[in-house]
Order: sequence, then structure tokens, then C-alpha cells
Amino acid sequence: MTTFPPSVQSRVVTDEDVKRTYAADAGPAPREPSRDVPSDYTVVRARDVADVVAVLEHAQATGTPVVPQGARTSRVGGARATEGCIVLNVEALDAIETVDPVEGIAVVGPGVVNADLKTAAAAAGLFYGPDPASTGTCTIGGNVATNAGGLCCLKYGVTADWVTALDVVLPGGEVMRTGHRTAKGVTGLDLTGLLVGSEGTLGVVTRVVTRLLPAPDPALTALATFGSLDDAVRAVVTLRLDRHRPSLLEILDRASLEAVQAFGDYGFPADADAVLLVQSDRPGHAAEDVARYGELMTGAGALEVAVAEDRQEADLLLQGRRVLSTAIEALGSRLAEDVCVPVGRLGDYVRGAAEVSERLGVRIPVSGHAGDGNLHPSIVYPPGDDDARRRAWGAFDELMRLGLSLGGTVAGEHGIGSVKRRWFAAEVGPREVQRQRAIKAVFDPSGIMNPEVVFGGGRWATRPGSTST
Ligand SMILES: Cc1cc2nc3c(=O)[nH]c(=O)nc-3n(C[C@H](O)[C@H](O)[C@H](O)COP(=O)(O)OP(=O)(O)OC[C@H]3O[C@@H](n4cnc5c(N)ncnc54)[C@H](O)[C@@H]3O)c2cc1C
Repeated sequence: MTTFPPSVQSRVVTDEDVKRTYAADAGPAPREPSRDVPSDYTVVRARDVADVVAVLEHAQATGTPVVPQGARTSRVGGARATEGCIVLNVEALDAIETVDPVEGIAVVGPGVVNADLKTAAAAAGLFYGPDPASTGTCTIGGNVATNAGGLCCLKYGVTADWVTALDVVLPGGEVMRTGHRTAKGVTGLDLTGLLVGSEGTLGVVTRVVTRLLPAPDPALTALATFGSLDDAVRAVVTLRLDRHRPSLLEILDRASLEAVQAFGDYGFPADADAVLLVQSDRPGHAAEDVARYGELMTGAGALEVAVAEDRQEADLLLQGRRVLSTAIEALGSRLAEDVCVPVGRLGDYVRGAAEVSERLGVRIPVSGHAGDGNLHPSIVYPPGDDDARRRAWGAFDELMRLGLSLGGTVAGEHGIGSVKRRWFAAEVGPREVQRQRAIKAVFDPSGIMNPEVVFGGGRWATRPGSTST
């Protein structure tokens, strides 16, 4: 048990039940069931930057590992407690300090929920783009740390495309400022870019400056139904070639549709082999775009294209897409994949995933941000069935190998965390791992920042290709 200076002691969570809720995230259960919640860890709920500074001074002085934490929606075990660590939760740093229409920026604390930033921007006639399916819960600090993507990346990019400056508390307690609040700025190396996506391995983000754009038109939504996943993928490629790309392009296969409709009636057909959900928000041209997308998808083999008649119908479809994760989790234990492949290879990936599912005897509903080539196949297996769990982890590994063989990446938007550490090494190679470790050491010479993720000795990792637990 860590003893802190008095200023921080009152922020330590003492109730064991509450403490346990901060130990886990939304990543998969460990491969090895015996390796669950660690026996010794401390949870600190910071109230302000001074708390973060005090914790990082103390951690550096005592060599204690620190796991920075937002809303714990990490899909890759990036925010979960590890043995002997301090879990440093910063959700309470949730001030929206500035929304500035002239400069086109917002300045926010790391604990601001993604949807709340969007709402604050909208109130000023502005728009914040990054839109993870977890928008209602995940925090901007977590989004920055994972370089989160989401449903609108095809048109609006990922978090890195929006963040212009950061405040970051480093091990030892120094507050570092990166980037610019001006529209342009090229002084020195781009340390903001380095910190975005660093998964809490370099420091704790305590303030974020993001770009905001003028608000687009309310999006119009079309739902296209396909008789095969292959036809849907062909339509995705056609839509990518359009001069005015959709602002959202999501795919759901038959198993995903069944899961969502079993969860609630969100207006999806339960008997299609695949659907594409497509939107345009182009000012003054959304209706024309959606009509053209309909023609393109029909040409690629869509059986039916329906345009949502009103905002309510469109919102319901989007809500259905956002509850998909929860709906799939209702089917059993789940491993969520996040491979991103070149869009032209999506068909090969989808066929390969079906082959893995057949061969290993596990269900693999396929869905995701098709417009980016970023799919989230879910490997579903019955809880408590050890053999099925082994086969599910085997499928998890095979899907990553498949993604790499097609020129893709093992982490489209969720990051590496503790779950994919060995696959990170397989993708980038040992020299690159060494180089990145050396960069980490510049920020974190004692190696206390989230040491089990990305580069460290993650307990959930196995050798690439290994199908054992
Ligand atoms: C239902 C569901 C849907 C999802 N959909 C998407 C999606 O569409 N797109 C997408 O990209 N992701 C998605 N995710 C994954 C997840 O929401 C994102 O990774 C998100 O950015 C994590 O934010 P968080 O606040 O929950 O961070 P946490 O889970 O608490 O932490 C995530 C990582 O960031 C680090 N971190 C958190 N806060 C800080 C900080 N202030 N300073 C330094 N490091 C920090 C943690 O150490 C950890 O490594 C989804 C997850 C769920 C459960």
C-alpha cells in the first residue's frame, strides 16, 4: 500500500468494492484466467493538476508504476491496474475552459467526455470531429492517449488531426507544454504528435487544445441492404472513389444485425447478409450526395437502399450501430479486433475471417468503419468454456496475422495496450521497438509510466502466432 503526501492521501480510494471498479477496463479478460485483478494497487482520483503533479513526484521518487486512466473504455487493457501500480484517474479534470469561434479551438481538461465537447462546440455553431462509438463515455484525455478514431474518420480524420497543443505532467512532476494555440506553428519537433497515441507511456495529459470546424449540415442517412458481404465491400470501394466522400460509412454483417435487433428494434433488417450505413453532411448538398451514394451502391449490388425519412429514424440507426458492442457482449464472452487493412483488401480480409471462423469453430460477427478499412470482427465464445476460449484467442491471433499479411496494421484505433504488445513488435520489428523505447526513456527515464503497455512486459501478451493461453 502506497503512502502519499497528505495533499493526495484524501484522493485515495479506500472502499475495496469501489477500488475494484477502477482496476478493470473494457478490454478482454486475460488469456490466463488465473491472472486477474492484481493483489496490490492503489487508486487515486485526482481533482486537479496539483494532484497529478504530486502523484508523479511521489511515483518517480519511489519508483512506483503509474497507470493513467480516463473512463476505462480501453479495448486493449491499456487502463487496467497492474501489480504494485498507482491507478491515476483524471476523469474529474473535466472543465471545458474555452470554446473560441474566432481561433476555432477548444481548451479542455482530459476528463471531458467526448460527447460533451461535441455539444459545447455545437452550442457555438462549431464541430468537433472525432467520434468513437463510445462517445457518450470515453474522455478526451483517453482519446488523445489512444489517438482515437470512430465513425466519421473517413471525412474528418482521427484525434491527431484535431489536437494542436497539450499540457502533460511528466514523471517527477514537471508540467510540459507542447504545440500551439495559433492556426499555424512549426517551431521545433512535433511533440504534440508524439504524445497523441502514446497510451500513457510518456506522461499524464492534463489539458488539451483541439481544433474546431464550422458545423456541417445535419447528416442525412441511407441504409443499403446487401445479399453478400462481398457486394457490400465492393460498394465501399466505389464510395471511396466518389469526389464527395461520405462523412460516415459503416458495415454490419448478418450476425451483427441479428445481435443488434435482438437487443432492441433499431430499424435494421434482420435477414440481410450485410448492410452499409452511409451519411453525408456536406453543407447544401447532403440530399444530392445521399441519392448519388444510393445509385453507386445499387450499381455495386445493393438489393435495397432506403434513405432515413427523418432525424428520428436516422438517430435510431446510428444508436443501433453504437450499441452493437453491448449487443454482441450479450451473446457471450468477446474478443474485439481492430485490424485496419488497405480498403482494396477489405474483401480478402472478410473472406479470411470467415475461413478462420469456420476452421476454429468460433463465431465472428464482422462490423466496423469500412470506409477506412478498419474492421472490428468480434470473436464470441461461451463463458466458462476453456476449450472455446483457447480457440477464440487462436482466432484473435490469426486475424491479426491475416491483417498484417494484407499490408494492414494490428491496431487501427484502439491502440496496443497490454493485449497486443507482442503483435506490436511483430508489426514494427525489434529495431523500431528499441528506438521507441529510447524515446520513451527521454520522457520517463525510470520507466514508471504505464510500463505494461506497448513496450513493457504485459501479462496478457503471448508470442505472435501462439494459440495457447
Ligand atoms: C463500446 C465501445 C466502443 C468503442 N468504439 C471506439 C471507436 O469507435 N473508436 C475508437 O477509437 N475507440 C473506440 N473504443 C475504445 C475506447 O473508447 C477508446 O480507446 C477511448 O479513446 C478510451 O478513452 P477512455 O477515456 O475510456 O480512456 P481509458 O480507457 O481510461 O484509457 C485508455 C488509454 O489512455 C491512457 N490515458 C487515459 N487518460 C490519459 C491521460 N489523461 N493522460 C495519459 N494517458 C491517458 C490510459 O493509460 C490507457 O492507455 C470503444 C470502446 C468501447 C467500450
